Amino acid sequence: MTSVHSPNKKQITPREAFRLLEREQGVAEWETRYDGISELLFTILSQHTSDLNALRAFESLRDAFDGAWERVAEADHEDIARAIWIGGLSRVKAPRIKAVLKDIQSKRGNLELSFLKELPLSEAKSWLRELPGVGPKTAAIVLCFALGMPAMPVDTHIYRVSKRLGFIGSKTTADRAHDILEATIDPEQVFAFHVYLITHGRQVCKARRPLCEKCILKEKCPSAFQV
Ligand code: SF4
Repeated sequence: MTSVHSPNKKQITPREAFRLLEREQGVAEWETRYDGISELLFTILSQHTSDLNALRAFESLRDAFDGAWERVAEADHEDIARAIWIGGLSRVKAPRIKAVLKDIQSKRGNLELSFLKELPLSEAKSWLRELPGVGPKTAAIVLCFALGMPAMPVDTHIYRVSKRLGFIGSKTTADRAHDILEATIDPEQVFAFHVYLITHGRQVCKARRPLCEKCILKEKCPSAFQV
């Protein structure tokens, strides 16, 4: 799939897109799903699988260890893998989960991430990204969803929509897109912007055949009817 941007069209800004998508989708309000450690483990379990499989694996892991993540940190890889097999790639993810828990324990003396809320966003991101196997997306998910911080998780939908709208360049990596998109909007709007873009990507600006004729952003989208 390629997109050809029209050079003469006045391009929509992230703030304009935010307003239009909010009008279309309604106000998205932040509510927490899990605590920080649980969100981190859920995100590791969601790598390369569906959300449903990740949820099954997460619940199975939590039940197998009675929700005591300290016990997971001490468990054998085999026992962790057995608990999460339903989510797939269990032999890869089990050592990843154990390593991340052990690393947090060794740095903090406990399994608690709420201290990150007291740090500037950039420091909180850096702290998480130094954990084994944690990249910009996982860090942003934990900070945004669990801790309510203005970090912007960029998944495949947001990455695609942002490129088509010209918010990021065609060669911008997904890792870089996190910081770029986050800076285009007010901090208190970051969570909602994430929700609006992901919903728009799933329902309208689809990967193969975007529904440009129905799109609320089409008047100023540089890729409208060109994908
Ligand atoms: S659906 Fe079409 S007009 Fe809307 S954002 Fe995607 S490419 Fe642009």
